[in-house]
Amino acid sequence: MTSLPCEFELIERYFRPLAKAFPGAYGLNDDAAVIAPLPDQELVAKTDALVAGVHFLPDDPAELVARKALRVNLSDLAAKGAAPRAYMLDLMLPSTVTEEWIAKFVYGLAQDQERYGVHLIGGDTNMTPGPLTVAVMAFGDIERGRMIRRSTAARGDAVFVTGTIGDAALGLEVLHGRAPNLGASVANVLIDRYRLPQPRVVLGRRLLGLASAAIDVSDGLLADLRHVCEASNVSAVIETVRVPLSAAARAAIGADPRRIATVLTGGDDYEILFAAPPSVAGVLAELSEEVRVPITAIGRMEAAPIGSKAQVTMLDESGKPLALRREGWTHF
Ligand code: ADP
Ligand code: MG
Repeated sequence: MTSLPCEFELIERYFRPLAKAFPGAYGLNDDAAVIAPLPDQELVAKTDALVAGVHFLPDDPAELVARKALRVNLSDLAAKGAAPRAYMLDLMLPSTVTEEWIAKFVYGLAQDQERYGVHLIGGDTNMTPGPLTVAVMAFGDIERGRMIRRSTAARGDAVFVTGTIGDAALGLEVLHGRAPNLGASVANVLIDRYRLPQPRVVLGRRLLGLASAAIDVSDGLLADLRHVCEASNVSAVIETVRVPLSAAARAAIGADPRRIATVLTGGDDYEILFAAPPSVAGVLAELSEEVRVPITAIGRMEAAPIGSKAQVTMLDESGKPLALRREGWTHF
């Protein structure tokens, strides 16, 4: 096991190559980076930190930790309609981290930089007595004033979601040994979705002008829908039978129907949940075909009850409201 080179060598050897194609990063040789604004556009900024033992398992592959750290941030930019451009990276490393770990971590970043067209432009590296922590701050471009907000859903809008819901949360159950009855192929599909989110970057951009409000699903479908409803002061009614499920999730629910609660509240989906007028449903269907990502209507927005908070109602297949004990992931 090799110990870690000094901070300067780490930057030189591992991080500088990730910054070489972005002029404003100045080869990571300055105190700060410059992001030149594009004409008539503004920057959307987002940061999310992953903590070992909280957001990933301490022995998860370094490459996947890196890609997840970047991708959860790209997912937020996608939900806002922004095109990702650059990111910064703050690393808090416990003394147990090896150079091999860093090399794999950087390899993971390089793969996703290529895939999503983003560049590392700076960061900070520290040792910590605490758990390994990876914080990314991502920046994206958007036409001035056009960022898709949480607060602008209207009653009468339909509620849509991209991709499939619940796979990652079920994958975490598998990793925790709470789903021993699932076959290996189902288990692996679910674990993959937990470890490596698929941010809807191309699709998110195309929602500009179609979505009236959007959020990325990270805390859980129910909790994130509630965030939109409260910000927009509308109520939502969701038909849970319409919530899109992968074949693996169907198999997991088939083995134990109580897992529907995990699907609806579990989180880590990194799909886009959005509201849009029903009149754009046809355009959305074409868009879904074009970008090869499912877009599914799951319910509708209604007027919030006068004098009380926005409600989120999940209906079962017979139209009865479901009582779900846990609303979604919260840290505190
Ligand atoms: P400072 O002394 O101002 O904190 P540092 O020595 O931490 O500067 O960083 C030197 C350069 O290396 C800066 O350009 C910084 O952005 C970059 N850098 C440091 N750590 C990282 C990292 N983990 N990822 C990307 N760039 C980094
Ligand atoms: Mg520093």
